[in-house]
Amino acid sequence: MNNDAHPQSLPHVAVTGAAGFIGSTLVDALLRAGHEVTAIDVRGTTDRLAVRNLKAASACDRFRLHNVDLGHADLAAIFNGADTVYHLAGLGGVRGSWGAHFVDYVTTNLTATHRVIDACEQTGVRRLIYASSSSVYGSITRSSREDDATRPISPYGVTKLAAEQLCLAHATRSGTSLSAVALRYFTVYGPRQRPGMAIDQMLLAALTRTPAPLFGDGEQRREFTYVDDVVRATIAAADPAVPSTVINVGGGKSVTMLDVLHLIATVTGSEVPIRHEPDQAGDVLSTSADLTLAEQLLGYRPRVGLLEGLSRHAQWLTATLNNPTTETPAETLETTR
Ligand code: NAD
Repeated sequence: MNNDAHPQSLPHVAVTGAAGFIGSTLVDALLRAGHEVTAIDVRGTTDRLAVRNLKAASACDRFRLHNVDLGHADLAAIFNGADTVYHLAGLGGVRGSWGAHFVDYVTTNLTATHRVIDACEQTGVRRLIYASSSSVYGSITRSSREDDATRPISPYGVTKLAAEQLCLAHATRSGTSLSAVALRYFTVYGPRQRPGMAIDQMLLAALTRTPAPLFGDGEQRREFTYVDDVVRATIAAADPAVPSTVINVGGGKSVTMLDVLHLIATVTGSEVPIRHEPDQAGDVLSTSADLTLAEQLLGYRPRVGLLEGLSRHAQWLTATLNNPTTETPAETLETTR
């Protein structure tokens, strides 16, 4: 990471979930742009993935990590001086959100979001950007627009919907100086993707010849979004001209899982060994994003198509398999341009 001082002084920002997949990629992009970044994550220097994800950022003198839990930390002290808070910390995964684990989803996705909002209000943060999800829409028959009905079919989706609406309720309260943009991310993939997410698992299966699960018949459709596109949209949402609202962030195309398997075979040169598993409760049959509002408000259009994105993800995974604690620095920096 280049430590050179930037000529223009950019606002100080805070990122929660900074050690995670999207959070760490966002942190790299913000540092590259010249921001001072306060990072918050419950995972820290003893966590292998966190160390790997924040390796480049940690070398920058404009980066500071608070290794704390949002549920207990003095967030007002941490956010003090920040203009924008990017709130990406969360508990992901639809399937794990049923049953006894629901309480963890409520604590992490909803109660912690309330603490983040409260601290933003106390410290005069101007803009809160919340990482919401396409899962708020539930079962769909056409591309989802932001004003469509929201009927999540998983407990995870319920917590994401509640948290985004909580952000907006606070932002529209009379007299508040806090504004909020909730970005509904459509399945994000790319380097550093959470292990266990479908694309990472399938690429890994192709590269190591160990089977990955395929749930259902493979005809379920997903709009996959490359992480650099998500990061660009997320940074654009800090613009004061963008009003408090929800905005879809998608990859521009919805494909079946069978299509993905085919593309992965093309990219890696190996068929993906598959273990067939039944449909999972909470998994929607299809996701697809209407990106009209994202283009209008954020000037956002996805730039990285699925074949190119899978190829970049596969290259990164190959390098990481050869050396699990590091990434190829040039590749890491390139992904945030
Ligand atoms: P991730 O699991 O890689 O990152 C989340 C990070 O949040 C982790 O590093 C975790 O340690 C941290 N965290 C969790 N609870 C915390 C707490 N109480 N205090 C401090 N840190 C905490 O997940 P990701 O895939 O990068 O997703 C980031 C956000 O985007 C999440 O809110 C997720 O719901 C949302 N999202 C992701 C996707 C996707 O496809 N990855 C799609 C839609 C929405």
